[in-house]
Amino acid sequence: MKTVSLVETNKFNMSKGSKTIETINPCNGESLKTYPYQTDSEINDKLKLADTIFADWKTKSINERTELLDSLYNNLSHSKEKLSELITLEMGKPITESKAEIDKCLLLIQFYKKNAEQFLADVLIETEAHESYISYDPLGCILAVMPWNYPFWQVFRFAIPTLTAGNVALLKHASNVTGCALAIEELFLDSGFPKGAFQTLLTNHDTIEKIIGNTIVKAVTLTGSEKAGKSIAATAGKHLKKTLLELGGNNACIILKDADLDKYLDTIVKARMQNSGQSCIAAKRFLVEETIYDEFLEKFTEKIKALNYNNPLDDKTNMSCLARPDLAETLEQQVSKSIDKGAKVHYGNTRDKAYYQPTILTNISEDMDVFKEETFGPLAPIMKVKNLDEAIKLASKSSFGLGTMIFTEDYKTASKKVLDIEDGAYFINELVKSDPRLPFGGTKASGYGRELSKEGILEFVNKKTVFINK
Ligand code: NAP
Repeated sequence: MKTVSLVETNKFNMSKGSKTIETINPCNGESLKTYPYQTDSEINDKLKLADTIFADWKTKSINERTELLDSLYNNLSHSKEKLSELITLEMGKPITESKAEIDKCLLLIQFYKKNAEQFLADVLIETEAHESYISYDPLGCILAVMPWNYPFWQVFRFAIPTLTAGNVALLKHASNVTGCALAIEELFLDSGFPKGAFQTLLTNHDTIEKIIGNTIVKAVTLTGSEKAGKSIAATAGKHLKKTLLELGGNNACIILKDADLDKYLDTIVKARMQNSGQSCIAAKRFLVEETIYDEFLEKFTEKIKALNYNNPLDDKTNMSCLARPDLAETLEQQVSKSIDKGAKVHYGNTRDKAYYQPTILTNISEDMDVFKEETFGPLAPIMKVKNLDEAIKLASKSSFGLGTMIFTEDYKTASKKVLDIEDGAYFINELVKSDPRLPFGGTKASGYGRELSKEGILEFVNKKTVFINK
């Protein structure tokens, strides 16, 4: 009988459609670069290489792997200016936020450098055996499908713990940030990671489905929309492969009558407007207790009007265009349908190509798109609520479950509501944010699984039971 390699048994053909990816500066519409899709044969070679490298990489000690994090840290830090500019050119965020994104990646590298060995150490468990323990073994090649909104951070928070645990990685990044995807691959190579430990794929959705079916790929992680999550998880499920899904969100931001607005207003504005509103964990529904409603609306509006909405490469800009013109159009449509149902424009609501003016809507009801759906841009729908209980009830009225934030001086009462929040996170007097030290992830339509912290590094390992009798 003829024997064929694993890769050959899973061969795929490139599907119809375009054979190139063009990146475009969303703020001025200028073409940045055109990249050819990788051919079937190039992708097969990458899969084979990943498999070969894994056989060696998994035998390295954790220290040998984390040693490379030092050079990665240095290379990333030295390239910060250049890479921040690339992020801004490709997806439009203000340059100061691109720099902050790189800084956050640096923190993440330091965090796993310091803690990975402890997180991955065998766990001894006393039984009647001579010795019994849990061994955290790598799984193999992990495919990551990633979004454009934090083009470095999303990839790093997957790649650093996953590679450190002894896996190898394949990245399918969002097409509009292809330059970032290739720059990340180069960073890993330049930092001494073996060629094949981290590889970028330039391909389309159909091919990704076939790659998921390939036996070399052991698990898939996706950060992106609910639609993409369902599609990727269905394909992975067909092949009985583990998935981790970080999807959309519709976080409530509750402001109670005793909230310290002087102290927290900037945090509340940032909760919605950072990254020009394109963050999964942004505050997307504002639930404000009625006795503070007018004061909040006035002060919040002043802050929104003062945002510097300008050229993203300028250090003073803190609000920019969205990452693609169609994203601004979608937001405009969600607002327009909500206005048809009675929402009032308190401020903003103009669009020019990918630029959507920061907008405040009032008179919101539960049947409106801006309440029910995720809005991915600088939009603040503000609702009046009677009290904490009503706010918590409304906050939970969402198909998503990423996080809820609440601002109040009575943090003790707010903390008694932990069990009532069905989300992956509950932040009191702070915006919902990701932090390398804390687990990050959602419930319901926001996905499942956790990234970051010890929880994140243990997502793509085989938690193997070892039982030894003498
Ligand atoms: P998206 O359209 O789902 O795209 C995300 C990634 O998935 C891209 O690389 C995209 O590739 C790919 N993709 C989409 N459908 C696919 C399919 N059927 N097969 C293979 N790949 C597929 O999402 P987006 O518009 O880029 O990002 C915004 C969404 O991501 C929002 O819903 C946001 O809330 C969510 N998000 C969640 C988190 C979190 O941590 N929970 C973080 C950031 C963003 P192409 O670019 O080639 O289409």
